[in-house]
Amino acid sequence: MKALAFAAPIAFAVTGAVACRAVESPKRADAVRGAPVASPVVRASAETVSIHAAHAVDVVAGKLLDDVWVVVDGERIVAVRTGLERPPEGRVIELGDATLVPGLFDCHVHLTGSLDGDYVNRSVHETAIDAALRGVRNARVTLAAGFTTVRNVGCEGFADVALLRAIERGDIVGPDIVPCGHSIGITGGHADETGFRPGVLESGPEAGIADGPDACRKAVRTQLKYGAQAIKCVATAGVLSFEASVGAQQLADDELAAIVDEAHRHGVKVAAHAHGAEGILAAVKAGVDSIEHGSMLTREAIDLMKSKGTSLVPTAFLRRRVDMAHLAPAQRAKAESIFPAAEASLRDAIVSGVRIAYGTDAAVYPHGENAREFAVLVEAGMTPIDALRAATVHAAELCQKPDRGSITVGLRADLVAVAGNPLEDVRALEQVLWVMQAGSVAVDTRR
Ligand SMILES: [Zn+2]
Repeated sequence: MKALAFAAPIAFAVTGAVACRAVESPKRADAVRGAPVASPVVRASAETVSIHAAHAVDVVAGKLLDDVWVVVDGERIVAVRTGLERPPEGRVIELGDATLVPGLFDCHVHLTGSLDGDYVNRSVHETAIDAALRGVRNARVTLAAGFTTVRNVGCEGFADVALLRAIERGDIVGPDIVPCGHSIGITGGHADETGFRPGVLESGPEAGIADGPDACRKAVRTQLKYGAQAIKCVATAGVLSFEASVGAQQLADDELAAIVDEAHRHGVKVAAHAHGAEGILAAVKAGVDSIEHGSMLTREAIDLMKSKGTSLVPTAFLRRRVDMAHLAPAQRAKAESIFPAAEASLRDAIVSGVRIAYGTDAAVYPHGENAREFAVLVEAGMTPIDALRAATVHAAELCQKPDRGSITVGLRADLVAVAGNPLEDVRALEQVLWVMQAGSVAVDTRR
């Protein structure tokens, strides 16, 4: 599995998945432990639906609305009203006491990855087809958790592009995906498959392994050719890949510059995995759009991120969720050395007003627990509304999805109903009752 921030043999159970049932499909036994059953989304129906809920969060204004009616026509929101200003139009969906929030974004997932079984040797035994098929279940539980859009930041062989196509066809259910294809990084670096004898899993720019600016350009062009909508690069070492360092810079300055120049010329944004201070600074200077993890932020990096508008995607919950007991001693030492710094960096970034976009690194821990990041962000100093903005309006901008991110007339009807008020207790976002995706009900736990 490529370019995970962490890679550890964790035997996990899917405990956080929301139990829900299909709206449109007949009930059927679910072979996946704890996973919801949902039918493919039937898109773009011309039906008008009026959705009523006790509350809705206006993430732009930062306030809770009461007695809310959201009118949806086909895929779009056509009216947002409070109280019975007018009789409801079309079919009514009554959500009772629930609170509506915009469909959530996760800007850092690996839908085709998981750390169960012999994941270290998986890429020797399996192909990208296996990766895509593993992603089917992960896409489903991610949507059931209220995440209607995700950015998939690194996978094998364009498995994320294949998943996106299957979801768009309606063959399977899942969030809308912004695929990155392969992560781009140096030979022997965090994006590379190492630990094998020469000749095993040797990769080139097509699979994201690139040395020198020209190869980096080729790597970007190849990812875009086969369907990437964003570019993921690896600016520094990682915690559980095989380098000695946890945070040393890997892609050189001229390589980072080539990647950013090439991606931006195509109108595509760049995410940079970066733990160490020098690599973070180099990536920000090169003009990447987001720093993933950002474990060792310096004052200089924070100031530069603010002035350049670079987002931080903190992936903070994994630090609590990853099972340290399963790590090899050297890797555990790397994790233990970097986790406190990462906590401090997140607090500094929040206090300083760095733009935060929500991301989890799901795959390092079980898919479907994505909403647990909210509470960690709030604990680190964010207000609940800002945490929600990180997963909606800020993420929509980073993912280049201007058609969604708030409950606003004209936008795509991606809506999530949760129990409770997330502005009082952000963990309400872990209690997903109902999900609408592009105007179609994808999840309904109330039946
Ligand atoms: Zn990752």
